[in-house]
Amino acid sequence: MSLRKLASLQKIDRITIHSNTDSLELAYIGGWQVAVRKGEFKIGDLIIYCEIDSILPDKPEFEFLRSKHFRIKTIKLRGALSQGIILPLSILDNEQQILNAYLSVGKKILGTDVTEKLGITKYELPEKEMGKCDAKGSLPPFVIKTDEQRLQSAMSLIDEMWGLDCYITVKEDGTSFTAYYNDGIFGICSRNLELKMDDEAAKKDIERLNSYAKIAKQYDLKNKLKFVGRNIVIQGELTGSGIQGNPMGVPGHQLHLFSAYDIDNHIYLNYDNFKILAKAIGVPTVETIYLGTFNFDLPALLEMAKGKYNGTKNNREGIVVRPTQEHFSKTLHGRLSFKVINNEYLLGRK
Ligand code: AMP
Ligand code: MN
Repeated sequence: MSLRKLASLQKIDRITIHSNTDSLELAYIGGWQVAVRKGEFKIGDLIIYCEIDSILPDKPEFEFLRSKHFRIKTIKLRGALSQGIILPLSILDNEQQILNAYLSVGKKILGTDVTEKLGITKYELPEKEMGKCDAKGSLPPFVIKTDEQRLQSAMSLIDEMWGLDCYITVKEDGTSFTAYYNDGIFGICSRNLELKMDDEAAKKDIERLNSYAKIAKQYDLKNKLKFVGRNIVIQGELTGSGIQGNPMGVPGHQLHLFSAYDIDNHIYLNYDNFKILAKAIGVPTVETIYLGTFNFDLPALLEMAKGKYNGTKNNREGIVVRPTQEHFSKTLHGRLSFKVINNEYLLGRK
């Protein structure tokens, strides 16, 4: 689950010097570092923070972003990482109201979403529909959409995870795949939609099937899930040719699981049971790179997020951190889990 707000009301937590230049300083908002003009902001200032992937509206005040197509990316300025953009409150028409609200309710107004108010939209990598991918409809009610919170925007997740037994996996750069077996019915889904299995086409020509249906056939998921003996959802990343540029260099297509959900008990399987289930149905899981106590700060996690996909020269997208025993997150109002994206991957993105 993620609570992504592209633009929100925030406070500047800290400002440090930029070691390569006197004209810039580094401002910190939660886990994000942003290069700003020296003296432009002060510690404690109420500001609007726009995350990377924000597209600002084509308005005179954002003219300086035209050459970047108004898109906020991860960049380096004079050698320092800069992620996101800080705007003064004065850009809103109700600055005074916000300041007054802050005086009366304090911190509670931090995080207020101003994305729509400012006309900001999200930059999305165009996700290509693959093959003959016929949608059946929206996700069934017992399938929870896969998503991960970015750590830097919710730093309290570090405190929530601290000391827990955790596992850290490689974040794969493909597309989300779900299969379920519920009350005798088997189905497959992409991230947002339930898809048709298209059994008729399968008999004639498996190549014509969409890659979701194809992978389900390849692993015989319908029969495997039937034998699990309870109503179950499995979720994983589908990677391979034609998907997100195939940075993992997968020949054909592959599926690596990252979650299993017990439908009747409304719970995700704990790590051990998840691994046993994956083994029982013969489907590989995403690679675990750490298993043990969680005692990492943001710099340590950013370091761990770095690296290449095995056997390639391509930066991996990052890592995903979860407790081995499922845990409720107060911050996320759901399953405790977060992603840390590899900054080298972000810097290299077109
Ligand atoms: P994003 O790709 O930035 O939208 O991040 C969330 C998505 O990462 C999920 O919806 C999954 O499809 C995908 N993902 C890839 N690898 C993993 C992993 N190891 N654990 C959990 N999710 C993953
Ligand atoms: Mn993704």
